[in-house]
Amino acid sequence: MTRRTILAVLVLVLGLVVALLSSCAVDPVTGDQHLMLFSPDKDIALGRQYSPLVEKELGGRMPEQGLQSYINQVGQRIASFCQRPDLSYHFAALEEGGANALALPGGYIYVTRDLLKELKTEAQLASVLSHEITHVVARHTVAAMSRQIGMTALLGAAIAGSASGSVRGDVPAAASVLGSLLTLQYSREDETEADLAGLSYMTQAGYDPNGMIETMQILEKLQTIRPTEFFSTHPNPESRITYLQDRIATRYASLGGLKKGEEEYRQKVLAPLSERKKRFNAQPVESPSEK
Ligand SMILES: [Zn+2]
Repeated sequence: MTRRTILAVLVLVLGLVVALLSSCAVDPVTGDQHLMLFSPDKDIALGRQYSPLVEKELGGRMPEQGLQSYINQVGQRIASFCQRPDLSYHFAALEEGGANALALPGGYIYVTRDLLKELKTEAQLASVLSHEITHVVARHTVAAMSRQIGMTALLGAAIAGSASGSVRGDVPAAASVLGSLLTLQYSREDETEADLAGLSYMTQAGYDPNGMIETMQILEKLQTIRPTEFFSTHPNPESRITYLQDRIATRYASLGGLKKGEEEYRQKVLAPLSERKKRFNAQPVESPSEK
């Protein structure tokens, strides 16, 4: 090999390295370019990898199977009316985490026991699930995570997880991804979009849109008794109630026969919850003298 050929090869290799590095040189501050790097497939991979960790962190799934399949049924019905019905959605009720609901990228949606026990109707449950479905469909989750931990860390987590097929919660990067998933702060615009698109999904699915206003009122009342986790991750409901009322009056007021589902919710959610409470209260309490 002549000196000239060696030089040409070296230049070629160097060029390739530079090209490779520049395509990976991600500035975590700028928005669109990074979001394009994060494909919708990665949303699904991230959700799949982190959902077991999130579930574990929030006390695991509630054991009441009937309640779980009911939540899933309501969620699937609404999801069939959203702009990404092709995604595989997973809905579940978790034991802990205060009164709250959350969405992970890729279609993993959770509602907590403390929130479920405050709601009264299926339409109210539908409003919570439709709001969270919008965060998934519009990919608000990924945008919020990239603001919280930076797109570089997010991409790293998705790639590491894709390579190993699973993720270990004790790895520092994984811990920060998990932490951000548990405390996702959406922008006000994203929250408004989730409310209004959610209102549209739930109405198309046949639910009374007033259920969303009732949910806001329930949470607002709850907030005056004790601060709820819902408000650490969602904006205050006052202004939301105003625009929801406007939207219902202009778009949905003429629709009739929409479902509230009070009896269904009582049977499928509130009854099992009170059963559990009864069982818990019936358990013999070990007195200190018996020890
Ligand atoms: Zn939200």
